[in-house]
Amino acid sequence: MEIDAAREVRTTCPYCGVGCGVLAKVAADGQVSVRGDPDHPANFGRLCSKGSALAETIGLDGRLVHPEIHDRRTGWNEALDLVASTFSQTIAEHGPDAIAFYVSGQLLTEDYYLANKLMKGFIGSANIDTNSRLCMASSVAGHRRAFGADTVPGTYEDLELADLIVLVGSNLAWCHPVLYQRIAAAREKRPEMKVVLIDPRRTMTSDIADMHLAIAPDGDVALFTGLLAWLGQHNALDRAYITAHTTGFGQALFAASALDLAGVAAATGLSEDELSRFYSLFAATARTVTVYSQGVNQSSSGTDKVNAIINCHLATGRIGKPGTGPFSVTGQPNAMGGREVGGMANMLAAHMEIDDPGHRERVQRFWSAPAIAGKLGLKAVEMFQAVAGGRIKALWIMATNPVDSMPDADAVEAAIKACPFVVVSDVLAGTDTIRHAHVRLPATAWGEKDGTVTNSERRISRQRAFLAAPGEARPDWWIVAEVARRMGFGEAFGHVTPAEIFGEHAALSGFENDGARDFDIGIYAGIDGEEYEALAPFQWPASSRAAQSPRRPEQGARAVRGSSTTRFFANGNFYTSDGKARFIPIRASTDTRTNPDFPLILNTGRIRDHWHTMTRTGKSARLSQHIAEPFVEIHPADAQHHGIGDADIVRISSTRGEVLVRALITPRQRRGSVFAPMHWTDQFAARGRLDTLTAPLVDPVSGQPALKHVAVRIEKFAAK
Ligand code: SF4
Repeated sequence: MEIDAAREVRTTCPYCGVGCGVLAKVAADGQVSVRGDPDHPANFGRLCSKGSALAETIGLDGRLVHPEIHDRRTGWNEALDLVASTFSQTIAEHGPDAIAFYVSGQLLTEDYYLANKLMKGFIGSANIDTNSRLCMASSVAGHRRAFGADTVPGTYEDLELADLIVLVGSNLAWCHPVLYQRIAAAREKRPEMKVVLIDPRRTMTSDIADMHLAIAPDGDVALFTGLLAWLGQHNALDRAYITAHTTGFGQALFAASALDLAGVAAATGLSEDELSRFYSLFAATARTVTVYSQGVNQSSSGTDKVNAIINCHLATGRIGKPGTGPFSVTGQPNAMGGREVGGMANMLAAHMEIDDPGHRERVQRFWSAPAIAGKLGLKAVEMFQAVAGGRIKALWIMATNPVDSMPDADAVEAAIKACPFVVVSDVLAGTDTIRHAHVRLPATAWGEKDGTVTNSERRISRQRAFLAAPGEARPDWWIVAEVARRMGFGEAFGHVTPAEIFGEHAALSGFENDGARDFDIGIYAGIDGEEYEALAPFQWPASSRAAQSPRRPEQGARAVRGSSTTRFFANGNFYTSDGKARFIPIRASTDTRTNPDFPLILNTGRIRDHWHTMTRTGKSARLSQHIAEPFVEIHPADAQHHGIGDADIVRISSTRGEVLVRALITPRQRRGSVFAPMHWTDQFAARGRLDTLTAPLVDPVSGQPALKHVAVRIEKFAAK
């Protein structure tokens, strides 16, 4: 389809990790309209309700448009000078680890790259972490344990080529709607394709499921270790693949065999018949993709869940082939881009490792940096605990709202309030976080900024500006560079366009790459502004500048080799020292956090039409109509037991706090557990901040908080 470039701008949706292409148009009267980009390989023209409403969420009401110091409007020079001088003074008095940056999967890759460069190479600390820690850190850790690197093997086309899709802890219909639509469309064409949904709730995703396993909360490790044991017992293993391409199978199978089928049934809350039917289907279906998201990742056993899933794919050789593989889908629009540039406290840029001296030396030399972080930094939960404990003296929060979104939110708010120096750069003036900032820096929003994002299938797409920045708002990368220059690092932060930053990031990804880590985009090193402007969506690794030609699924074969991408692990080689994938031995635990005072398990999550803390979607009346107020889903038997009627206002209490929400009684909810969405803040509902209930309990490997397993009690607060 021909696009009139003068009137329609190709950009990318800023919500979820599907990364849909959007065509945005500004009419002569200033009205903005959007439609799905028919040529974008993620969505081929589709948009979900949130993407379709983008034009309704870009108004300037509530925007921060001028820098502020202590609630006083000021100019950029004064604000930036204060930030830079306070950071420099803090480093001089307390050392680099007294500074922390808490950044966001909403940032563009160029923003992320510069923030990481400033912190790790010039300030000399790894205390930069991201709200993506709450989103996919367990998958990153699981990939690194099994594959030797954070490399995602799946692509969206695999979902259409699979004969069996196993959805684990993933309400795709609401949280990754366009992927759901692609699967539903593929299933229409190929009725033999089967879908299994594994989720404590019967969500809207169950509409396309042939089988729904209403698993007990955090029963996933038992389910997949049970599957591994079952595959072994039923001669359903790919022995040749295991021998040639993996290590550690014997130990993993031994650990998995600790539970017999009855034990797995007890741990998962599923019947032995349900288990046998699922295990038989998995064993019999060579083309199987296992998709997982927050139900797996946001758990105190999240990394073990990821590796239990990967173990089953390695044991059957179902990885690196079309229509197969474990596939973690990311929540945020640029969670993947942050991983590429080392925007996490335990990573270096370009997929390099902080604890590898060779990698540290290489990155430091490339940056000509005066320092390089020598040890892992503080992960998100640890970071705010360090703020509370007084170890962090200066905190910069970029494009995120931790006062509402971090677990134990009241404690996080108290920590931020007590921190001696807090900088917040954001789009909005009134978030619950920015209210506590000493310095507020106005950032440009979607539609006003240029850069790139990477979606769940490793596809890098451009976000393009089509609106003028309001007031004095500036791109995040510009703000970081200005602070760096004022701290005396001007030579390394002289970028004047995002294209220059992308070109530097690409150059580092290919810098002295000896071929052992072939997931760089080095071919784009030094890209010029014109090429960057025209950059078409492509997947990494990028072996050729010819962008991958978008194909519709019905056109058949994958567009991989010969265009720009390689299927990871197609040759059976992994990024471990011996080139073999590692089985991880995992034992299921029967941990439960309920007790007589808090007898129910709260599962927190998302709804179809809102995004995170509603700072954008809350502006759209249409989106707010879908579900107008915070609620808790409760099973009819639990409701009766606790004396709760449908639509009653109820109080949910945990050891951390309490909220008031509307009761929604539904058999879709599993007995013994309840579900509530995380979006509402005090701005939208009195006492509705759900993360005042959640605890700072994390997965010990990934540091990802367990946001889906909180012991609570529920009682009627008032009549409807
Ligand atoms: Fe945006 Fe995700 Fe919806 Fe696509 S599926 S339009 S990326 S929110």
